[in-house]
This record gives sequence, structure tokens and C-alpha cells, in this order.
Amino acid sequence: MATYAAPVRDLRFVLHEMLDVSNAFSELEGLEAVSDDLLDAILEEAGKLCENVLFPLYQKGDEAGCTLAHAQVTSPPGFADAYKALTEGGWTALSCAPEYGGQGLPETVKFAVEEMICSANMALSLYPGLTHGAYRALTGYASAAIKDFYLPKMVSGEWSGTMCLTESHCGTDLGLMRTRAEPQDDGSFLISGTKIFITGGEQDFTDNIIHLVLAKIPGGPPGIRGVSLFLVPKFLPDADGDPGARNPVFCGALEKKMGIKGASTCVMNFEGARGWLVGEQNKGMRAMFSMMNHERLWVGMQGLSLGVTAYQSAAEYAKERVQGRSPSGPVNAQGSADPIIVHPDVRRMLMTTRAYMEGGRALYLWVASQLDRAAHHPDPQVRAAGDKRVALLTPVVKAFLSDVGTESAIACQQVFGGHGYIREWGMEQIVRDARITQIYEGTNGVQAMDLVGRKLPMEGGAVMRDYLDELRAAADSHAGTAAMVEFIAPFRSALARLEEAFDWLMERAATDPSAPGASATEFLRLMGLTGLAHMWVAAAATALEKMEGDNTGFYAAKLTTARFFMQRLLPQGMALLASIRAGSESLMALEAEAF
Ligand SMILES: Cc1cc2nc3c(=O)[nH]c(=O)nc-3n(C[C@H](O)[C@H](O)[C@H](O)COP(=O)(O)OP(=O)(O)OC[C@H]3O[C@@H](n4cnc5c(N)ncnc54)[C@H](O)[C@@H]3O)c2cc1C
Repeated sequence: MATYAAPVRDLRFVLHEMLDVSNAFSELEGLEAVSDDLLDAILEEAGKLCENVLFPLYQKGDEAGCTLAHAQVTSPPGFADAYKALTEGGWTALSCAPEYGGQGLPETVKFAVEEMICSANMALSLYPGLTHGAYRALTGYASAAIKDFYLPKMVSGEWSGTMCLTESHCGTDLGLMRTRAEPQDDGSFLISGTKIFITGGEQDFTDNIIHLVLAKIPGGPPGIRGVSLFLVPKFLPDADGDPGARNPVFCGALEKKMGIKGASTCVMNFEGARGWLVGEQNKGMRAMFSMMNHERLWVGMQGLSLGVTAYQSAAEYAKERVQGRSPSGPVNAQGSADPIIVHPDVRRMLMTTRAYMEGGRALYLWVASQLDRAAHHPDPQVRAAGDKRVALLTPVVKAFLSDVGTESAIACQQVFGGHGYIREWGMEQIVRDARITQIYEGTNGVQAMDLVGRKLPMEGGAVMRDYLDELRAAADSHAGTAAMVEFIAPFRSALARLEEAFDWLMERAATDPSAPGASATEFLRLMGLTGLAHMWVAAAATALEKMEGDNTGFYAAKLTTARFFMQRLLPQGMALLASIRAGSESLMALEAEAF
């Protein structure tokens, strides 16, 4: 069976020992009081909720799914109570502003808690997750009146939020959208059109649902430049802020889908629904991106979180299931066979997953810590540097972590052999649930295009060069430590490959318009692997410092996993570099008719 135990020890290792976050917070305005003790208490309590309340509903939610009758969705049994436990416990408002009822804690802490929530029950996590995205867009772009009116109830979880972009004929290319917003004399708009794939578009947990909708105002500029953002409540609040008249926005159908069945994915019909502009007219994408960037980091972390559940389940199974004998002689001589964890190929699957999951956890938390720097550092230059680092790494975290999370889920399903394919064991659900993280919030191919087409060229490549300098400085900082040579040498080689690929790509893009797209996915993977190597160097250095001769415990396992990553996973970069340098010619050569 799938099992889940909150990885509090490893989260503490990353937060306290590797990143020393409370020390970093002491320099950030408004976060000075966030201590190690507070962090530990939060992690412990959130971990218990995830293990005892959310995870027991994970498989049940998949089996029951959501149902629709008369435009009303019924969620799986237990989900409404679990949502209540999440919101009433304040778990969904950790990083929200105190002025709207939030706790004003760092994003780093929020992300750590969300990893556990997603691992325990990804479908349920989507409802508050989307609300948080809507909260971010409104905080950044809505008028003071809208913020004061709507945000307190969204922060408390009394009202939820959605993000309505996709239409049947457009997902990536939103400039094609047809949903219209007709201006009214009172300053509001009437929204008409159909959105598809809307997560949480309808549910039975909250008194109201606040849709953030992209639509075009007639007569505006064509394409993406004519898209504006609107707030469209399910119920129009009355003067006291209570849900009043029903706004004509209805769930027309539930999508029948591969996974995350406990989350409603809705076709939403806007039938002249009343809405209000958020931000400037025709600048909707700017506001939506402020939400999407945050959501993209979150989705990368989601992919990882499912890999974590899969790993824990597979590790347990591999210690219990007996098949065959160890190649170096029986370890269970009294029994009929040895546990499958003795087999090198089973080890390969477990170690690969472990190295990606623990390294990936450090990577997303490190990027989240840059979010906090960008928002709270007193020095504007440091804030700007944090912003750029987040912008550069957002597509990497989204696509790389969701890719390795999904690959890991599949590898761990494989550890179960045929039982991994059978529902009751729970592994096929994890694979089905993980798969969406590679697709939504912008497909991973589109993330790769964002990286090579928009992020690498930022400031003429200076943002990427700054990142490379930081990685080089990290390698240099361990130059005098003999025990670190085995980690630093492969890290330096990886860095050299990433730099070579970057230079090659920037140069080639000037003469071959297909070059960036042709190598984008490989480049993103190369950058993800190198970013992970950076984290594994830091993890190894920390473990060496802390292990104090203990060659069997937590730190020794960290060191072994770091070694495995450097020796067995990082060399993928050589093949990736060769693919990148092969360019676009053979990729683009066939005529479309030949496919
Ligand atoms: C379960 C689920 C939940 C979702 N939740 C929401 C939600 O809450 N709100 C919402 O608005 N949307 C939501 N979506 C929509 C999701 O974000 C889109 O499906 C996704 O962004 C891809 O868009 P598309 O499906 O139209 O694919 P398309 O845009 O048609 O893409 C098809 C293929 O072409 C590739 N492609 C397209 N353009 C390019 C390009 N320029 N360069 C390279 N490759 C390209 C893509 O990578 C993909 O492989 C959800 C989808 C699902 C399945």
C-alpha cells in the first residue's frame, strides 16, 4: 500500500542546516521573528495533519471522484471536512499578509508545508492552492476596494479562488481567446464565453467562489495585447459582504480525466456574468503572470511531492517483498528468498528517486528563499537580484521537478512489479496524479521555451551569467576541503557543460530561429541537473561538517546519496550537451506530410 510519513527531518536539514533560513530571515523586514523553534513547531504540526487527516483521504478521493448535478459539484466524502481543517487551522494562509488575516510567514515556510500537503493529498491541495494564486494576483493588481472586500474571506478560506484562462481552442496561445467583457455604465463588465479545464471551478466547500477570468474588451488591440483580467464572483456579495444574488457563471460539465480525480476540473460557462477589472485594461497577462509564476514553482514542487510519496511507499515495499537472492549471497538465509532491496536494479530505482527528491526539495526551498529576499530585503538591489533569480529558475523548477517527480513515481511503481499496476496498492494513482504536473500551468515544453527564449536572454544574458558566477563561487568555497573533491570535481564539469551549452545556444539563436526551440528541453534538463548538483554540494558539505564520525546515521546517508547523484545522475549532462550541440537540422528536416 502507498504510505506517507511527513519528511520533517529532511525539511529541517534543508531549512536549518543547509540554508540556515532563520539567520537569513533575521535580515528581512517583517520576518525577523521567524525562529528555528517556530519553524519546527509548524513543520511538526503540519506533518501530523498531513499524515492523519489528508493522506487517509488520498485513495478514497480518487475512487469517489467528483460528481455534477444541476451545476453543483459534490466532492469526495471527507474532502469538505479536510478543507475545513486546513483553512481553520490557518495552514492555507501562512504567507498571506496579516492585514488580510494571514500570518505573514515566509514563502519558504509555506512551500515546505505545501510539499507535505501535496504529498498527502494532491487533489485536495489544489483548491486552496488556486485560491492562493488568486490572492497573489489580487494583492498585486486589484484596487484597494477590491482587496479590502475580497481578500479577508479568501485568506480565511471562507471563499475560494480560481484561475480561468483556457478555452477549448487555446491554452498556450491565449491571444486566440474569445471570451468577451462588455463594459457597463456602472464601471462593471458583463463576461460571456466558455472556459475549460478550470480547477475548482465549482465545489461544495465554500460559500462563494471568486473566479479570476481573462477576457477581451471589444474594440481592444488584437491578440494577447487585448486581454484583460476580471474578478467574477459566483455570488455577488451584498453590502455586508455576504453572498447575494447568483451571478450567471455555471459549471456545464466535469472533465473525465486521468488523475487528480478528487479535484473538480470544470467547463465554466459565463453567461453575461458580472465582473470587475483587475489591474489595467488590456494588461491582463501581466497580472495573470504574477499569479502563474508563483503557481509554476508550486506545480514543480507538486511533481516532487508525489515522487516523495512514491519513494516512501516503494522503499517500504522493497524491504518486505521477497524475490530471488542477493548477487553477493543470501541475506535472508532462513527465508525462501531475499527482500528485493538487495537487487542492484531495485536499488537503482530507489536511489535515483531519493537523489532527485532530496536534491529537488533543497532546490525549490532555495528558490523560495529567493522569493522572500525579493519581497523583504531592505536593500532594493538585493530585492531585484532575488526577483531575477526567481524569474530565471521558475521554468526550471516547474519543468525539471515535475519531470523527475513523474519519472520517480513511475520508477517506484516499477519497484512494485505487477502490483504497481493494480489499483489497491495505490502506486498507479500516484503516477496518474503526477502526470498533470508536466502539463498544466504551461506545458513543460513551453517552460523550456520560456527559459531559452525569454529568461536566458534577459539583460543580454547577464542574469544567467550571475547565476553561473554564484554556482562557481559555491564550488570555489570548498576548494580547500579534501573530502569535498569528489563532489566539487563533477560539479565543476557540469558547470562547464552548462556554460558551453548557454554560449552555443545564444550564438546559434542569432542565425537559426529554430535553434532555441530545438534544444530547449535538453537545455532545461541540463540546467536542472546542474542546479541540483549545486544543492548536493551544499548538502554534502553540511553533512561532512555535522556527521562527527557517525558513518551510519542521517548525515552518512546524505553523503552517500550526494555521491550517487554525482556519479550516476549528473553524467547525463554529457549526452544532453551533445544533443543540444546537434542543433535543429535533423529535427526540422522532414516535411509535415512525412509524419
Ligand atoms: C487537469 C487540468 C487542470 C487544469 N487547470 C486549469 C485551470 O485551473 N485554469 C486554466 O485556465 N487552465 C487549466 N488547465 C489548462 C492547462 O493549463 C493547459 O491544458 C495547458 O496549459 C496546455 O494548453 P493546451 O491544453 O491548450 O495545449 P496546447 O496549447 O494546444 O499545446 C499542445 C502541444 O503543443 C505544444 N506547444 C504549444 N505551443 C507551443 C510553442 N509556442 N512552442 C512549443 N510548443 C508548443 C505544447 O507544449 C503541447 O505539447 C488545466 C488542464 C488540465 C488537464
